[in-house]
Amino acid sequence: MMTTNIASDERRVVDSVPHQLLIGGEWRDGEHGLLTVEDPATGEPLAEIADASPADAVAGLDAAVAAGPAWAATAPRERAEILRRAFDTVIERTDDLALLMTLEMGKPLAESRAEIVYAAEFLRWFSEEAVRIEGRYTVSPTGSGRLMTMRQPVGPSLLITPWNFPLAMATRKVGPALAAGCTVVVKPAQQTPLCTLAFAAILQECGLPDGVVNVITSSQAGPTTEPLLADQRLRKLSFTGSTGIGRLLMSQASETLLRLSMELGGNAPFLVFEDADLDAAVEGAVLAKMRNGGEACTAANRFHVHEAVAAEFSARLAGRLGGMKVGRGTEPGVELGPLVDAKQRDKVAELVGDALDRGAKPLTGGRRIDGPGYFFEPTVLGEVPEGTRLLTEEVFGPVAPVVSFSSEDEAIRAANATEYGLAAYLFTANLKRAIRVAEALETGMVGLNQGIVSNAAAPFGGVKQSGFGREGGREGIAEYLETKYLAINLD
Ligand code: NAD
Repeated sequence: MMTTNIASDERRVVDSVPHQLLIGGEWRDGEHGLLTVEDPATGEPLAEIADASPADAVAGLDAAVAAGPAWAATAPRERAEILRRAFDTVIERTDDLALLMTLEMGKPLAESRAEIVYAAEFLRWFSEEAVRIEGRYTVSPTGSGRLMTMRQPVGPSLLITPWNFPLAMATRKVGPALAAGCTVVVKPAQQTPLCTLAFAAILQECGLPDGVVNVITSSQAGPTTEPLLADQRLRKLSFTGSTGIGRLLMSQASETLLRLSMELGGNAPFLVFEDADLDAAVEGAVLAKMRNGGEACTAANRFHVHEAVAAEFSARLAGRLGGMKVGRGTEPGVELGPLVDAKQRDKVAELVGDALDRGAKPLTGGRRIDGPGYFFEPTVLGEVPEGTRLLTEEVFGPVAPVVSFSSEDEAIRAANATEYGLAAYLFTANLKRAIRVAEALETGMVGLNQGIVSNAAAPFGGVKQSGFGREGGREGIAEYLETKYLAINLD
């Protein structure tokens, strides 16, 4: 075990998690040795875990393929009960899992606790969905036959997750896959693999048969997963991450015609109309911007505010963000942790620099905070000019650029002027306008007078370059099911 200088409780939760690959029910070393997971608040190493080779990944797929038929034939109620036990166990261990999450990802403990609950909800939701997989029985139009449809598991699935929601992104994929009867290979992000390893151990404890969930951690995501994408035995890829990598994976998956779910980047507009309740809009803005430190694909990326209220909204938002306590997520009262790594912090600094060079007005923040750790000040920029990169690129950090508009049409045009289409937020007290604008927004999700859209019971997903497929809701399990039609001759 490593002996870096972290508090004993922190050491205990890190050491309690398996540090190896999970393949066919066995924890084993990776052929590529070890990779280091670091604490983004200090830059110090946190753990050394197994680094998988491409052959290890193929062994994971072998195990998933071998376990497939028995798992698909396991009674839905039994699959549901395992997921339900996993829900209970995750909730019971909220404190430890939240600490683990804060250590590897950086978000404040209160936010980690909220993510644990959100993540667990996918297990509960899909435990309930497992027993509601339905088909149809119809009389053929000629009356001479019957048409029966059934829904069967797609088969072995590769699940690739990002670092920003280390547990929820895993449960949101593993939950529906298991409920549907699919076996899986999970590849968590290199920065935050510990929560997925802890979750896999919980599934084992809850009675999941060997080989149903396999976990591959790797410092070389591309080469490690490539042989799986080329393997005809893999039937499905569910990916959450950046649009660029999503495109690359989609082109690789074209060879084997994999079923795909793609949850990609976002650039959410946050619209505030002149008739909005400004208190609610500011509160919603703080949530939509600062949840997860802005490192959320649903994070409000830009604020379009009616010119009559833009100055007041900007000043109030700056007051709220400027007063936030920044620090290591384990410290009491901290509201904003570090960015996940130096690369992410430098990207935020670059985009803010571009906005300031073009004449945006800094209302609060605007600078990186010197290390250790990868911190950036909560930032509000007013009067951001057109053409600024912050308006078209995903910032993934605690930065709120504000732009004003003068008409509803202009607001809708500006909101849709992006290649992305994941989430949008809309604040207005006018019901007709709310419906009109919500229908005109080119996104998969709209928050109406609220700054959060995520909910295990709702279909999460995007349009345009934000991808396709839905996670959660009634739709979530469908991503892991195939429809088979049986033609019945009654002549
Ligand atoms: P990323 O695309 O760099 O990485 C995501 C995952 O893909 C990681 O596990 C990574 O190791 C893996 N990966 C990277 N290159 C790969 C390759 N060549 N082959 C196979 N796997 C590869 O993204 P990130 O920086 O970890 O995450 C941030 C991005 O994720 C943001 O763009 C964000 O918007 C997006 N995101 C989207 C959603 C959503 O549901 N739409 C949710 C969370 C995050």
